[in-house]
Amino acid sequence: MLVSWLEVCVAADPSTGPDRTHADGLFSGGGEAGRLMAAHDWAATSVGPVQEWPASLRYAVRTVLASRFPMVLTWGPEFVQFYNDAYTPFIGAKHPAIGEDIRRTLAEGWAALSGPVEHAMATCEASWLPRLPLLLERAGYREETYFTVSHAPAFGDDGRVAGMHAVCTEVTAEVLGERRQQLLHDLSCTQAHRGDEAAVLAGLCRTLGSDPLDVPFAAVYLDGDGGLRRAGTVGCPPGSLPAHVPDAGALPGPVAGLGLVGGFWQDPVRDAVVLPLGGGAGEERIGVLVAGVSPNRALDAEYRTFLDLVAGQFASGLGTARAFEAERRRAESLAELDRAKTAFFSDVSHELRTPLTLLLGPISDVLADPADPLPPSARDQLELALRNGQRLQRLVDDLMDVASIEAGRAGAVRVPTDLAAFTAELAGVLRAATERAGLRLSVDCPPLDRPVHVDPRMWEKVVLNLLSNAVKYTFVGGIQLVLRGEPDQVVLTVTDTGIGIPADELPRVFDRFHRVQGSLARHREGTGIGLALVRELAGLHGGTVTVASEPGAGSTFTVAVPYGSPDAPADPVAPSSAAHGTAASWVADVTPDELPPAPAGATATVLVVDDNADMRTYLTRLLAPIWRVRTCTDGEEALAAVAEEQPDVVLTDVMMPRVDGFELLRRLRADPATRAIPVIMLTARAGQEAAVEGFTAGVDDYLAKPFRADELIARVRVALQRGSGGSAQLPPGRPEPVAPRAATAPEVRVLVPASRPPVPPRPATAPAVHRERWRFPAVAQSVPALRRALRRLFSTAGLDDDQAYDLLLAACEAATNAVEHAQQPTEPFVDVTAEVTTTEVVVTVRDHGQWRERVPSMDRGRGSTLMGAVGEVTAVPGPEGTTVTIRSPRTSPPPRPGG
Ligand code: ADP
Repeated sequence: MLVSWLEVCVAADPSTGPDRTHADGLFSGGGEAGRLMAAHDWAATSVGPVQEWPASLRYAVRTVLASRFPMVLTWGPEFVQFYNDAYTPFIGAKHPAIGEDIRRTLAEGWAALSGPVEHAMATCEASWLPRLPLLLERAGYREETYFTVSHAPAFGDDGRVAGMHAVCTEVTAEVLGERRQQLLHDLSCTQAHRGDEAAVLAGLCRTLGSDPLDVPFAAVYLDGDGGLRRAGTVGCPPGSLPAHVPDAGALPGPVAGLGLVGGFWQDPVRDAVVLPLGGGAGEERIGVLVAGVSPNRALDAEYRTFLDLVAGQFASGLGTARAFEAERRRAESLAELDRAKTAFFSDVSHELRTPLTLLLGPISDVLADPADPLPPSARDQLELALRNGQRLQRLVDDLMDVASIEAGRAGAVRVPTDLAAFTAELAGVLRAATERAGLRLSVDCPPLDRPVHVDPRMWEKVVLNLLSNAVKYTFVGGIQLVLRGEPDQVVLTVTDTGIGIPADELPRVFDRFHRVQGSLARHREGTGIGLALVRELAGLHGGTVTVASEPGAGSTFTVAVPYGSPDAPADPVAPSSAAHGTAASWVADVTPDELPPAPAGATATVLVVDDNADMRTYLTRLLAPIWRVRTCTDGEEALAAVAEEQPDVVLTDVMMPRVDGFELLRRLRADPATRAIPVIMLTARAGQEAAVEGFTAGVDDYLAKPFRADELIARVRVALQRGSGGSAQLPPGRPEPVAPRAATAPEVRVLVPASRPPVPPRPATAPAVHRERWRFPAVAQSVPALRRALRRLFSTAGLDDDQAYDLLLAACEAATNAVEHAQQPTEPFVDVTAEVTTTEVVVTVRDHGQWRERVPSMDRGRGSTLMGAVGEVTAVPGPEGTTVTIRSPRTSPPPRPGG
């Protein structure tokens, strides 16, 4: 083993083997560096000609050249350097520097290197300098670089230190990468802290300031005030940058003039980049980040990506802060709205109580007067009125209760109560309604061993609300009410086999005014305060209410109250008249309608669709003497009834469970077999806006509750005449004259479209001409409806977005004029036609009045300027009204047929 090692050493001795003494042999295999060394005039240097080099230098040089690791060797007191190809990139433009004094080549970094080099040479102890920052000017600027270096002594033939061997590796990319990664991590931690926008921005700027080597200075500008406003700076006096600029282009890119310094050696900062904050696809831009570029680093792809990521962190932090703030404001305004609603209901309820008392009192007296009994039909009607008056009263009472509990005015007056007996009695009050609804009611209230102290009226509300909800939301199965005494509380559970409540709704069902959207119920009526009231009332007794539910399987509401102590002496308790009223309403609601026989000679059938049983009864009573009447409780039932036998007219409510009035209308219109059936809508949503909505949905007529009996009959008659082709006797768009309305009735006119838009069979290819015609009530609320209708038409016709937008503006301006200026119209409508052909778009707006003389005003002519900008506008006034025509050449080609 020893022998072979010696052999190897001898064979490797550059002074012995063939050609090894020759300079070429010494440098061969050393690549470019070897060739440079071979060509170098060593005789002119302090190390002398190659032939005279000591063996130790030859060995050392050979080691350097043979290594693929970056190595540099210096020899002699003048630090003459020898390096290999792997080392050349480190000195960049200074290469070739073979044979030069290393102290000159690395002049800018020598201050940092001389100490460890001298130490290694003096003590023979190798240095170890990980991540040594070095200033290099290899790329034409003062560059921040990092090297891990080890210096070791190089020995001469006499065994004394004759030079220095250095092995080094550049770690600039790692050092910068880690540093930048750390900053990005810190920024993401900072932006995770919740706060308002200013606090988040200040935090982000502070964190950004922790890495001045990568971002010597920065400024954040936010969009607003018609430009960009400086909102934060770091690493520079705020005043060194403008406070406000019109756009990002006005922000400085070259920043040498700002006199800022930065980087590892505090050199002047010359460049900055302006990066958008947000503004990616589907995102709104928040502002921009101006980030200074280190004078000691080139703005290469990595640096740019890093700065983009910094901007991303700012955008995300500020975006989240804004969203958070918007959410907080939304929650605040909702709470405010909620308070305002409660206050409003409370005020209104007060006002309603007096007239309600004065209505219900006399009705009850008349009904109860034995001396003067009423004929059966009058009795039926008054009972209907009484029942619904009481329903209103209960609603008003509930609202008042909620309001006074909220205001801290309500307090429970607890009396010792046999809660088992009282609860069972309350359940009994609802038994008839439950059973008529086809549900089983099981009541399990064994006697308790002691009285419970509750406010009887409040407990009654708790029980009745829970039972009423159970009836309302259960269609098959049953309801079970259980009351149990536990050691320190009494627990009431009401379990149903109804529709159940989705898990995500459970936390909110006890909130005031909260209703689960789309719940299938026996009727749509309700205010969403029943369960809120139960919770408040239980709370006033020191108790709680909870719910467990599974959609499709049912719900269990559990109320627990302590036995409590008395506030007043015992008083016999019994269900109140309000409880009996609730029960009577439910009986009416769940009892199938009794339809009177059709009158002799009746030729037409009216289908009445309403979820309120009393309303169906009332409508039936009004219509049945004239026409044959059928009834349905919601839109879904109505569709089935229409499929079975077509009525001549449909009279429908709007708000109903399952399929509401608008959906019913849509489905009737969508089916060619039912498209022609006239539909009249009845709704509690008074006001012209609702009327406009009804008309754009294609309804034939519209009647707001409360309405008068004769008006209803007149409307049905008109609809029937039109439906049977009798429209010739009635000019389109004209209401049948009706008696003047009561002053309190909401102002709703019979608004008949000039003609129901014909529904042509769907063409196989896109038609070349798109034409539609609408008639709108001459009220301001029609303008949004017109805008919607036009937008739909323009989109179907494939009109270019910009042109469609301009035309919408112009047409709405013309319609606004028609509404505002037409005096004494012969008809209270505005007629609009729109036609899109392959070459042009024509919109006409016609009113039916005289235009008054225009008063000079500031905005005079604004409308015509606006319209004129879109196309050719003509206004033709006439005794019957004015027609404004907007004509605009089509700017985009029509879509390809079938495309
Ligand atoms: P509402 O007047 O709407 O009935 P409530 O406060 O009584 O108001 O109830 C709030 C909501 O909780 C209801 O709109 C309904 O969606 C749901 N809900 C209440 N009770 C039941 C029940 N027994 N089964 C299913 N859903 C229920």
